[in-house]
Amino acid sequence: MNAHDPEPPPAGAVPTYLKASSQAELAHNLSAVRARIAAACTRAGRSAGAVRLLPVSKTVDEARIRLAYAAGCRELGENKVQEADSKWEAMGDLPDLHWSVIGHLQTNKAKVVARIAHEFQALDSLRVAEALERRLQELGRGLDVFVQVNTSGEASKYGLPPEEASSFVRQLAGFPALRVHGLMTLALQSDDQTRVRHCFALLRDLRAQMQQDLPAGAGIKELSMGMSGDFEMAIEEGATVVRVGQAIFGARALPHSHYWPGVADTHPSPT
Ligand SMILES: *Cc1c(COP(=O)(O)O)cnc(C)c1O
Repeated sequence: MNAHDPEPPPAGAVPTYLKASSQAELAHNLSAVRARIAAACTRAGRSAGAVRLLPVSKTVDEARIRLAYAAGCRELGENKVQEADSKWEAMGDLPDLHWSVIGHLQTNKAKVVARIAHEFQALDSLRVAEALERRLQELGRGLDVFVQVNTSGEASKYGLPPEEASSFVRQLAGFPALRVHGLMTLALQSDDQTRVRHCFALLRDLRAQMQQDLPAGAGIKELSMGMSGDFEMAIEEGATVVRVGQAIFGARALPHSHYWPGVADTHPSPT
C-alpha cells in the first residue's frame, strides 16, 4: 500500500469503490488488491503465492476489459454464461485471456461453457455435470471445475448443502472430462463477521474431510472463497482463490441479489 491509498475502512463499513476507467487506475487497483492479499497471507502465516486473484468482470464493458488486459489481467470471472460468451467472442483476438464462469449454469447452456470456459466454479448438480461432460467429450476438451457449496444456509442460494458435497464429489469420478480442483462458496452477506467467517471455515473443514475420506483426496485442493467485501477474512480461513470485482473495477449498479437469488442485501453496492 503506498502513501496515496486511503486507510482501510473500519470493520463492517461499506467501502465505496470508485470506477476505474483508465489502464493506470486499473493497474493501481490490481496492485492494491494484490498487496492486501499479500498482507492477509502474511497475517495468516501463509505465503503470498498461496492465493490466486481472479478478477471478476461482470457488467464491465469490453473497452475497460481491454484496459485491464493491458494492465496485466489474463483471467476474468463472469457470473452469467451469456455475458461470458459474448465477451469471449468479442475478445477472440486475446487468446491468452482465460474466462472462468463463476455463476449458476442451466443444462441448456452447458454447450457454451464447454466451448469457451477455462474453468467453471459453480458445479452443483449431476445434471449439469452430465451435460458438461457430454459437450466436453464432443469437443475433446477437459474443464477445471469447482464444486459450489451453500455454506450460508440461505434457502434459495445456489450450491450443494454441505452434507451432500462429499458424495457428490465422489460421483464426479465418473466424469473424466471434469477435473475437480476444489470447492467454491459465497459467504453470507452480513455485517456479522462471526457468521461470515463461519461460512469460510465450514468450506475449509469440508475440504479436510474430503481429503481424508475420498480416494487420493479426489484432487480437492482449492478453496474459492472471498470477494471485495470479505476476501481478507477468507484468506485467513484458507482461501486459495479469491474472486474480486468491485475493488478492481468499481461499484456495480446492481446489488448482489440480482446475481444470487435469495441473498439479503445488507451490503448493497454503493453507487
Ligand atoms: C460478482 C461476484 C463476485 C465478486 O463480487 P465483488 O463484490 O464484485 O467483489 C464473486 N463471486 C461471484 C460468484 C460473483 O458473482
